[in-house]
Amino acid sequence: KIRVRFAPSPTGPLHIGGVRTALFNYLFAKKHDGDFVLRIEDTDQTRYVEGAEDYIKEALNWCNIPYDEGPGKEKDCGPYRQSERKDLYHQYAQQLIDNGHAYYAFDTAEELGAHRKDHEANGKTFIYNWHNRLKLNNSLSLSAEEVQQKIDAGEAYVIRFKSPQDESLHMYDEIRGDIQIDTNVLDDKVLFKSDGMPTYHLANIVDDHLMEISHVIRGEEWLPSMPLHVLLYKAFGWEAPKFAHLPLILKPTGKGKLSKRDGDKLGFPVFPLQWKDPKTGEIASGYREDGYLPETVVNMLAFLGWNEGEGSEKEMYSLAELVDAFSLGHVSKSGAKFDPEKTKWFQHQYLQLENNDALATEYNEILKEKGFAPSQEYVKEVVATIKERATFISDFWDLSSFYFEAPAELDAKGFKKAWKDDTSSIMRQVIEEIQKIEDFSQENTQDQIKSWITSQEIGFGKVMQPLRLSIVGAMKGPDLFHIISSIGKEETIKRMESAIA
Ligand code: GLU
Repeated sequence: KIRVRFAPSPTGPLHIGGVRTALFNYLFAKKHDGDFVLRIEDTDQTRYVEGAEDYIKEALNWCNIPYDEGPGKEKDCGPYRQSERKDLYHQYAQQLIDNGHAYYAFDTAEELGAHRKDHEANGKTFIYNWHNRLKLNNSLSLSAEEVQQKIDAGEAYVIRFKSPQDESLHMYDEIRGDIQIDTNVLDDKVLFKSDGMPTYHLANIVDDHLMEISHVIRGEEWLPSMPLHVLLYKAFGWEAPKFAHLPLILKPTGKGKLSKRDGDKLGFPVFPLQWKDPKTGEIASGYREDGYLPETVVNMLAFLGWNEGEGSEKEMYSLAELVDAFSLGHVSKSGAKFDPEKTKWFQHQYLQLENNDALATEYNEILKEKGFAPSQEYVKEVVATIKERATFISDFWDLSSFYFEAPAELDAKGFKKAWKDDTSSIMRQVIEEIQKIEDFSQENTQDQIKSWITSQEIGFGKVMQPLRLSIVGAMKGPDLFHIISSIGKEETIKRMESAIA
């Protein structure tokens, strides 16, 4: 059975790289009728941030990619928070000591610092591995009695993995293919710390094994850990899951990795939801609060490293279509450029697909705050007229305020262009004609005014431009007769009169 996991550490808000990892895991699981597990990797207590776990869950829900199993959705493999599993890991570290794949080390931070300095002085980098191992303060260089004495005396220790010497390690990544490394470049990573907690590496492998994870799909930044992970599976005698490392997400310029700080610099969110830092109170903007639809964010994220294959020009994918089309084989190795403009394009497209009734309800909330109380029908009609020009619901007001209130002022440039010496007298005549119109529908007002203009043998622009300016306050906006018919005869005349005056 296909089982994948998203395993964030609750050290802050999930950025879009994290959401992309979650999405690809979700798509892969759903595509193969598998399970999508959420595991909270909170073994590093010093980096724990209040509220981060809730943020992660809320972000997944908002994107409509909920997990099947995890905190609050306990199934057979729980608990799903590593802090609640902490008693479990020591026995596994012990198992590796017993079978010779791990050992106790007693080096203090000062001792290690001194070794590092020594090496640097000779132009070398210090690696804690077979080459240096016997010169260091650990159970491989001490007698069994010495080791026992140190432990009994309560001396702080860590448990380190014993990286193999002179081996060539062959690995396979579902996205990158064959990978080969020389184990001599690896160091003896700490598996278990003196505070009684496992490190990321040990807990991650033990949990992936116990949770029966079949595929580990995660960001490229974890690729350097893959050799150790593969070696750990071997050392335990367990079958390793398949690995897939997703490409980096790059800045819009393509130069360098997209960072959490880029959002502020470039004025676009890099977080799904707004985040208020519990310590500093600082606020980072989120897609949700900025008015993006979750469909937009999901579609945009899917293209960060994936496409359906050469020749495919389809860009708009619903979540269900993504599930259908997704495969790891079509995930690229090279970094994916993050593109805020394209994200806006998606947003514009998805806004057009939204139901007008739902949009009207949301717009009505904004209108209410501004003190208007139009009918749902009226707002719906306005929404239908202006939405093709909008990217966000928050654009609606600027695009349609004139459906609800008279313009506060007339655009000066437009006025200069449209208002000639004879305009006021022409507008007075138009008012008289408008008075006469009984059926104030869009079609009829248009017919009446246009035929009057024709009968007077004046240019259309001479009437229509100042008329638009009077009603809208600017030389833009939707069909003028639609606006006139919507606001009604009385309001139309009122606005014209105040423009003349
Ligand atoms: N806890 C790691 C993280 O924060 C998980 C990495 C992995 O998926 O193995 O990304």
